[in-house]
Amino acid sequence: MTGELTSLPDIQASKLEIVTTKSPKPLPSSSDLVFGRTFTDHMLTIPWTANTGWGIPKIQPYGPLSLQPSATVFHYAQELFEGLKAYRDTTGRVTMFRPDMNMKRMNTSAKRVALPNFDGNAVIELLKELIRKDKHWIPDIPGYSLYIRPTLIGTQAALGVQPPDEALLFVICSPVGPYYPTGFKPVALYGTTEYSRAAPGGIGSYKLGANYAPGVVAQREAAAKGYAQNLWLHGPEHHITEVGTMNTMIVFEQPNGVTELVTPPLDGMILPGVTRDSVLTLAREHAEGKTLIEGLPEPGKLVVNERPVTMKEVKEAGQDGRLVEFFGTGTAAVISPVNKIGYLGQDIMIPTGEDGMGPVSRPIWKQLVGIQSGIISHPWSVTVTEH
Ligand SMILES: *Cc1c(COP(=O)(O)O)cnc(C)c1O
Repeated sequence: MTGELTSLPDIQASKLEIVTTKSPKPLPSSSDLVFGRTFTDHMLTIPWTANTGWGIPKIQPYGPLSLQPSATVFHYAQELFEGLKAYRDTTGRVTMFRPDMNMKRMNTSAKRVALPNFDGNAVIELLKELIRKDKHWIPDIPGYSLYIRPTLIGTQAALGVQPPDEALLFVICSPVGPYYPTGFKPVALYGTTEYSRAAPGGIGSYKLGANYAPGVVAQREAAAKGYAQNLWLHGPEHHITEVGTMNTMIVFEQPNGVTELVTPPLDGMILPGVTRDSVLTLAREHAEGKTLIEGLPEPGKLVVNERPVTMKEVKEAGQDGRLVEFFGTGTAAVISPVNKIGYLGQDIMIPTGEDGMGPVSRPIWKQLVGIQSGIISHPWSVTVTEH
């Protein structure tokens, strides 16, 4: 890289051009919404070239992109994405949840595959404009939200593996209903030893499209065996990494009676989830006595650790009755409880309460959803519009 690159224009929200659709789509009935199938009327696009930097941001009607078949995204998976949500609270205010975290991660992913970086704050301002334009697509029903999918692709029309000299950042939005419309449904996981999701020095900690296609076959095989998702394991000791496309949280009862909330450390194979960070932060603030969450074990009786966990430890804790909870975390489901892990031909059973949750996930879920839906006022909620 030369010094010149830094003097090229970054994304400028003030340059935004808006082309309003002439044929707005009819709003879907909220009961028909299937995750990721329905998109709003508009999308945001921002082109980039190596010679001219970031171009004019445009909000325009949602529709097909025009790309050359030689575009590098189609050949070398020069693609990364993000996922975040906008919520409407009971007063009609629309907010986004921690969008700065998504912009930071998007830039980290871009750097890993030699796609261009950008000013995340400028994109947050543009996301606000896009959401304001299509805010009537957020169903005014508790538990519903607008899923926002920022994406960055290499568009240079040339074969050859190299940093693309053209790229496109685009953002589409999809109204979504509650992940668990009829209450939490704990899922069964298949401890996957035939495939691996990530490796040291690989790309598991980046939200790159290339991470996901290889997981589809593994998921299908787990489903054929009667399990909902893969529990991705790593190495000869079968270290726990992720649950499907979610981060993993495990709750142990330590021999001294203290409850331990554990998640694997960010060692390069774990996706740094915004929900993961939020759960850890809330649990730590409680454990430190700073912001108490009703229902959690009292401070002093709860410890929060990022440390490696093997299947051996989980299995033994299960046998000793010290495996309290196992759950996934991610933007789509927030918390996804697990009631069974198939591992080397045996099932490890995990207790869940009548509501499908456990003593740590239940209060944290309530707090997190309270913040996201505006019931609890918190700096993580970024206002898009007051009504
Ligand atoms: C997106 C994602 C997560 C969860 O991240 P959030 O920011 O909490 O949505 C976890 N693991 C993988 C593999 C992911 O793609």
